[in-house]
Amino acid sequence: MIFKRKLPIPKEIKEMYPISPEGAAAKRSNDESIRAVLSGESNKLLVVIGPCSADREDAVIEYISRLRPLQERVADKILIVPRIYTNKPRTTGAGYKGMLHQPNPQAQSDMLRGLISIRKLHMRAINETGFSCADEMLYPEHHRFLDDVLSYVAVGARSVEDQQHRMTASGLDVPVGMKNPTGGDLSVMMNALKAAQSAHMFIYRNWEVESKGNPFAHAILRGYMDSHGITHPNYHYEDLVRLYELYQGSGLVNPAVLVDTNHCNSGKRYDEQVRIAKEVLHSTRHSDEIHRLVKGLMIESYLVDGCQKPEEGVYGKSITDPCLGWEKTERLILDLADLWV
Ligand code: PEP
Ligand code: MN
Repeated sequence: MIFKRKLPIPKEIKEMYPISPEGAAAKRSNDESIRAVLSGESNKLLVVIGPCSADREDAVIEYISRLRPLQERVADKILIVPRIYTNKPRTTGAGYKGMLHQPNPQAQSDMLRGLISIRKLHMRAINETGFSCADEMLYPEHHRFLDDVLSYVAVGARSVEDQQHRMTASGLDVPVGMKNPTGGDLSVMMNALKAAQSAHMFIYRNWEVESKGNPFAHAILRGYMDSHGITHPNYHYEDLVRLYELYQGSGLVNPAVLVDTNHCNSGKRYDEQVRIAKEVLHSTRHSDEIHRLVKGLMIESYLVDGCQKPEEGVYGKSITDPCLGWEKTERLILDLADLWV
């Protein structure tokens, strides 16, 4: 390994790009609204939505700015948390690893510019739209570069069995959604939730730290791939009942699930997300238990339908997983607001 250059620590990056008092107040209020949904105090549907990867600042800010008036239209039914995913897990390690690595997807990796770019993007989102957003915690040690701007954190399907992710999740003061692993074993996800809701002592960024346990760690169902490489959904009514049963007697507090409508649930057929989202809402009508368990959806959406290779350069079109374009997204959110009771 070649140690190329020492990077600023989170405190230094935050001093360079501090959050404004208005931004901090917006985050506090968003955090409270999200907690209210996950605790059952509010009956709104939590919708974590946005591109698979935040590949460029201008298009992501335009996308999130369009969500703002939409959020106002559906405010009585839906709570939107935009996805700004700045670091991407890769199945084989190859390909675009997110803005953190490549602030310009067409250029070489530049981790210093990456760190600054992801902080600036999340800050612009709060300052210009009032949304404090969701990101994936791919690298637990990096969380503190963004901890004052995020309102929601996801632990991905490839990270959920990892002890450092679980312990770090247990120390965060925002809700953490923990996905089922790529192979679909729900016991891995339930064990992750148990670990994340428990207190731990561990080493974090060369400190001995203590976590209190995160009572808002919850499940995300994202479908799975079997040992033959075939994808299977896990958003159907029977899957939700199974999860409800696993929660029963688990000792976990605030039982909750978000259904990820893309990934192995859609088999990456992005436009199926519309049908899947509606089916999940339909399922909640058949059982009070399932209605209480299902707190929301995670949807991959961007300005333009589908996906492209990074070198194609179409503005607002995903360079990782295929996304639902803006018109279909807007229609879907309005329909979900009508369907959610
Ligand atoms: C994602 O949400 O884009 C993602 C990478 O999800 P998963 O961890 O479920 O593959
Ligand atoms: Mn994705």
